[in-house]
Amino acid sequence: MAENRQIRIALAGNPNCGKTTMFNNITGAKQHVGNYAGVTVEKKEGHANFNGRDLLFIDLPGTYSLTARSLDELVARNVIVNDNPDVIVNVLDASNLERNLYLAAQLLELEKPMVIALNMSDVAEEMGIKYDFKKMAELTGATIVSTVGRTNIGTKELLEATISVAASQKAPGVTVNYGDLLEGKIAELVAALEEAGTVTYPLRWIAIKLLENDPDVVEKVKGFANTEAVLQKAAAIREEIKDQVDLDIVFQEYRHRYAVEVYNQSLTQAPKEIETRSDRYDKILTHRIWGLPIFMIVMYLLFAFVNIVGGIPQGWIEDGFAALQAYAVQNIPEGQLQSLVSDGIIAGVGAVLSFLPLILLLFLGISFLEDTGYMARAAFVIDRVMRACGLHGKSFIPLLLGFGCSVPSVMGARILDNYKDRMVTILITPFMTCSARLPVYILFANAFFPNGWDSTLVVFSVYFLGIIFGVIFAKIFRKFIFSGEAEPFVMELPPYHLPTLKATWLHMYERAKLYII
Ligand code: GDP
Ligand code: MG
Repeated sequence: MAENRQIRIALAGNPNCGKTTMFNNITGAKQHVGNYAGVTVEKKEGHANFNGRDLLFIDLPGTYSLTARSLDELVARNVIVNDNPDVIVNVLDASNLERNLYLAAQLLELEKPMVIALNMSDVAEEMGIKYDFKKMAELTGATIVSTVGRTNIGTKELLEATISVAASQKAPGVTVNYGDLLEGKIAELVAALEEAGTVTYPLRWIAIKLLENDPDVVEKVKGFANTEAVLQKAAAIREEIKDQVDLDIVFQEYRHRYAVEVYNQSLTQAPKEIETRSDRYDKILTHRIWGLPIFMIVMYLLFAFVNIVGGIPQGWIEDGFAALQAYAVQNIPEGQLQSLVSDGIIAGVGAVLSFLPLILLLFLGISFLEDTGYMARAAFVIDRVMRACGLHGKSFIPLLLGFGCSVPSVMGARILDNYKDRMVTILITPFMTCSARLPVYILFANAFFPNGWDSTLVVFSVYFLGIIFGVIFAKIFRKFIFSGEAEPFVMELPPYHLPTLKATWLHMYERAKLYII
């Protein structure tokens, strides 16, 4: 490749492997956040200049897999196959490598040059784990670099490896072996695809995905000329072998087997059976009995922090804009211009900005909970209850915030990784009575039920009914609009960490910017 061309790098990895931390280390402030075209999945891109080269990093959504089942997974893989990055940098959690390699197995199939960043190597070291990097490189076809995102160790080596792998343009050249039966069928389909000669994606990947009946890939293939025969053949093969193998899981099993094999063969020293600090915290924080009350207290603190503390500067901003409004009314002659400036521009911008303190504190709180690792526990503790309502454990936080104010609540739904979970949560947010409605409730309750005790009960029941309706509608939305398999709860419990100031600040800054825009 030309010496001075920009190198495009897709950063892929499981949730919580430290991807965003690395991204921030590398790109610093030179990043921008938006949404992927047409979908509400956050897109983060950032630049870095290294050794005179311009590097563009794309932080893909964190996923465990690359199926068509969830929007985040689809986005991640479509960026890789459609946007043609020069290199994939796959960030793996070295302290939990076996699980992390499952994603690597799928990335391999996209036939892009790959660098593996073995992140969290400090944690792995603490656990006594050692790997044979040469063996791992051989088995994955990737260049391996050991990193510690938190303390910015290995970043330079990672960038060097990335540039050199990009220059070589060498795909891993390693494949997951799916066993004789499937390999034979994959070869048949690849031959058919070659004969058609039109499909521009990696053919082996397409063949595998057709056998898996991946709806997105089937659509992609339909879009190429001359592929009817291929699609028919794929359907015929599926029909032919469906009694011999369970097509729904057989490919996943082989990928998993690959991950286990790479792990076992690369491992030179197994983790010590020690109780880590995280294990000790978990004994209390996810305790069968104490877990829930602790969760409630943390949630109350978050709620109070956002609404009570945030309410103070919110009041100042509102007063400020009211004063500005009064000033405008005094100084602009009465008429349409006055109305435009005072009721339109000042009141409008003021209303939006008055929520800014709440948004800032919300994301400060959320990013603290996420970065320390408590968020995953919180979601885990409440997941069963929420799931019974057709929601995800993580929906709890945005919904709770809805009792304070719906604006941060809807913004907070961004913490949900899955599109459908996010949408259902947002749609039922209005059923959570926000605090601005309370005076209205009290007014009506007192007007219609003048006896003091009654009106209290009335207000309480309105709150309660709101929750009941929220649950009912969540079920209805789940069933009819955002139906389909609910995302299984595969969230891992990451080790507890002290969050870095930089990550927390960037998190808050980005969300606040998105909100204002
Ligand atoms: P992402 O979900 O992959 O984007 O992960 P994040 O970048 O948000 O990191 C998750 C947590 O792991 C944060 O608390 C980070 O501070 C922490 N972290 C990231 N890299 C490392 C590392 O190399 N070692 C340790 N001990 N912690 C890390
Ligand atoms: Mg991240």
